[in-house]
Amino acid sequence: MTYTHLKERKFYEDIYDRHTIEDGRRGMVHYDKFHAEFEKKLPKDDKIDRPGNALLLNVFYMQTVGNELLHRYETREQYITDWIAKDEAKDEQIADARLTEEPYCQHCGKTGLRITSKDLMCRGEHNDPDEPEEVLFMLKCPHCDKNSAFWEDGTAWKAKPTLCPKCRTEMRHKTSKTPKALLFTYTCPSCKHSYKDRMDLAEKKKKQPDPDFDKDRAHFCLDDKEFRDRLFEIRRGFEDMARFGKEMKEKEDNKHVYDAMKEVKKPKIAELVPILAPVLEKAGYIEFHLDKPEMGRDVYVGFSCLDNKSEREDYDSRKTLKKLVDKALLDTNWRLMSDGISYRLGYLNGRVKAYEGEEALKELVMKTKNLKDKQKSNKVDNTLNETRMGDGKGGRIVY
Ligand SMILES: [Zn+2]
Ligand SMILES: [Zn+2]
Repeated sequence: MTYTHLKERKFYEDIYDRHTIEDGRRGMVHYDKFHAEFEKKLPKDDKIDRPGNALLLNVFYMQTVGNELLHRYETREQYITDWIAKDEAKDEQIADARLTEEPYCQHCGKTGLRITSKDLMCRGEHNDPDEPEEVLFMLKCPHCDKNSAFWEDGTAWKAKPTLCPKCRTEMRHKTSKTPKALLFTYTCPSCKHSYKDRMDLAEKKKKQPDPDFDKDRAHFCLDDKEFRDRLFEIRRGFEDMARFGKEMKEKEDNKHVYDAMKEVKKPKIAELVPILAPVLEKAGYIEFHLDKPEMGRDVYVGFSCLDNKSEREDYDSRKTLKKLVDKALLDTNWRLMSDGISYRLGYLNGRVKAYEGEEALKELVMKTKNLKDKQKSNKVDNTLNETRMGDGKGGRIVY
């Protein structure tokens, strides 16, 4: 198998790192400008390294340079691996390609053509970036010595005609060559419209020497562990701040919910007895008992009692007990389970569940008291704010 696309890993690493360096240098231009202007505007008695100023500079640094460097550092290995896999797949596609039928020479109609090359090309007009590339076979005819080209499925390759932009007639063209480029003059045979086009010959552009390349590569590709760790730390700090700010905002927006949560009583398991037993007893349910609690992610406690009212039947007995338990637990974090209460010969049992943790409690309170999450109901406003927080490059500011 010949490898026309796949190159050694270093080739990809060099290109990737070159882009990182370009990004880093570009970002630093903005940062340095900001830094200089910022310093100029400081009042005389203020210093640039004062913590408040340093924080602001850090924020700006991360936005213009740091976050991008971290991102490129974190995605480098995977990006290069994927890239290599893509090139490998291209080589495989070419190697595996076979003409489905014996091709005839496009010029003399004879067979026995020899494949001279296989290349990946798009069949369409190159304006769809997602169009898959297909293998185009170049063949030479041993009889007339001319070339024919076929796609893998046997379709003959055809040069796309250039149409006159004014009247859609096929244009005629003349080609001339200068040392640097091919020049085409297109003329429409119908309306005489004419224009010129050029194709620069792939003259290897001389790479400008880049004396700072190695130094900048080490810096912007975060080879220095100390510098890298410092950037990660700053980003983490900002992320924590952002999360904290978000939480604060949520607590402020939903103050009515958090206030209501504070009022919820959280009786211990043993305390359920004095809450429930007297109320139930008054309604004719005696011998209230708790079972051993089931401790899992949630805590459940089974309970049982006896209906002491002889005239009360199954349905009524269950219904009344449910109502009483619901009511007695309403201002606590305990609720009767939805699997309900069972009844047999006046023996009733059911289960209650504890709502623990802020999220569960919040949900419980909102449901019980029918409170609305103001952040969610204000969603439209939030989206607007987020757009305004954009960094101008289509990305979102980290915090
Ligand atoms: Zn031929
Ligand atoms: Zn024309």
